[in-house]
Amino acid sequence: MKICTTISEARVACRDVHANRKRLGLVPTMGALHEGHLSLVRAAQARCDAVAASIFVNPTQFGPTEDLSKYPRQFDRDCRLLEEEGVEILFAPPVEEIYPNSNHQVSWVVVEGLSEKLDGRSRPGHFRGVTTVVSKLFHIIEPEAAFFGQKDAAQLAVIRRMVRDLNFPVEIVACPIVREPDGLAMSSRNAYLTREERSRALVLQRSLQEAGRQFQAGERIAAKLISAAKEVLSREPQVALDYFEIVDPDTLDPVERISQKTLVAVAAYVGSTRLIDNIVVEPESSSTLSYEGAPPIKH
Ligand code: AMP
Repeated sequence: MKICTTISEARVACRDVHANRKRLGLVPTMGALHEGHLSLVRAAQARCDAVAASIFVNPTQFGPTEDLSKYPRQFDRDCRLLEEEGVEILFAPPVEEIYPNSNHQVSWVVVEGLSEKLDGRSRPGHFRGVTTVVSKLFHIIEPEAAFFGQKDAAQLAVIRRMVRDLNFPVEIVACPIVREPDGLAMSSRNAYLTREERSRALVLQRSLQEAGRQFQAGERIAAKLISAAKEVLSREPQVALDYFEIVDPDTLDPVERISQKTLVAVAAYVGSTRLIDNIVVEPESSSTLSYEGAPPIKH
């Protein structure tokens, strides 16, 4: 695996791949890798001839009171894992390489409207940081395809829209949520949880399961599903709900009655750790409930 820390090194390495007429897949990450990240790498391996991964804890997507300084960093372990997966290129630049003007960045990529919904509403400026850094990565790596987790469903909607509006020649591939055996969605931030918090965090998926169960039973009114899910969340008073929303997966606008593929998304603070999770429900395919990797719903 070639490890590149400068933009020019990364450009040379990626252009070498393209010179061999290989289709290059990109997996952007902030490191502290887990099976969720590795599933993206495997999806990229399956659809591309070569895979580039990036590790960059992007300061511009963190708010002033967020966890930038304590975000987990385990570079050597990450390199080993990526190497084992057969990743060809790792782009892991220092902050100054991506933001040489530090506090004087004046050019941003902004997806208006969508960036203020769901996580964007609770984390002002977050998606502007994401879309700006992803644009930079697309320009540097020039991948044919880029792989993102359905776990960050709002991020996926924002990036898809950016790619469409700005004509990036990149296929965006969404990959299913990878979960721990008990159903908790994998996240680098799970490392912050104490043992008690780790067990409280399961209420996020229980709330989604309750909404999913009622959906399967025929309920289509979003408000009813939301109130059932919130009832479940209220049984864990130490978990502070940020949002529980039922929205169109592309526009992120609230849906009143579910008649097509719909995103059911939750975000909550477990102690000081903000966690997110979601399921996708779809009426047409009868009782289909897309809740990838989760344990069966208990009735
Ligand atoms: P992060 O390092 O948290 O920025 O995540 C990098 C990529 O991995 C994003 O596209 C995430 O959506 C994806 N990802 C994170 N957790 C999971 C998970 N549990 N399952 C699938 N993809 C994930």
